[in-house]
Amino acid sequence: MTELVTLSAEDTHALGAALGQMLVAGDFIALIGDLGAGKTHFVKGVAAGLGVTDDDPVTSPTYTLLNIYTGRIHLYHFDLYRLSGAEQVDDLGFAEYFSGDGVCLVEWAERLGDILPSEHLSISFFHSGDDRRRLVFSAAGVRAEMLMRDLLAVCQ
Ligand code: ADP
Ligand code: MG
Repeated sequence: MTELVTLSAEDTHALGAALGQMLVAGDFIALIGDLGAGKTHFVKGVAAGLGVTDDDPVTSPTYTLLNIYTGRIHLYHFDLYRLSGAEQVDDLGFAEYFSGDGVCLVEWAERLGDILPSEHLSISFFHSGDDRRRLVFSAAGVRAEMLMRDLLAVCQ
């Protein structure tokens, strides 16, 4: 487990963009943290790093649960804030995206319960002062470990 601190929304965006440049189809990023912690800002950065253009701005799919963007590969951006339990999630057909042709970034990923893919990079966001956020990384699987290592390498 490793952590980074960002001092502004722009910092968090830049970190996301760095990750976006590294992602390949099949990668799964679980985003955990309270409202306003910076998850969506991070996803905006990832989208930029994947080459999603500003013509298609990233907004939070709070009501739709899933927004799809296309850069050099598809970005599946989930926000599960409105979900209540894991049983409900099973019925929503998310699994086809998880093993699919793009990358998945899931806000409130803890709500996936059993359908959280066993291999994933998890990033927990914590408020740590006005514009300061602590991002705690945890890798499950070899690919996630590689991503985490590469990301930290470009940020140090
Ligand atoms: P979430 O998706 O976790 O609910 P958002 O990314 O939508 O959070 O909102 C984060 C809010 O916090 C935005 O208003 C953003 O401008 C602000 N903010 C301040 N500092 C930071 C930071 N270091 N990283 C990310 N967002 C920040
Ligand atoms: Mg959000």
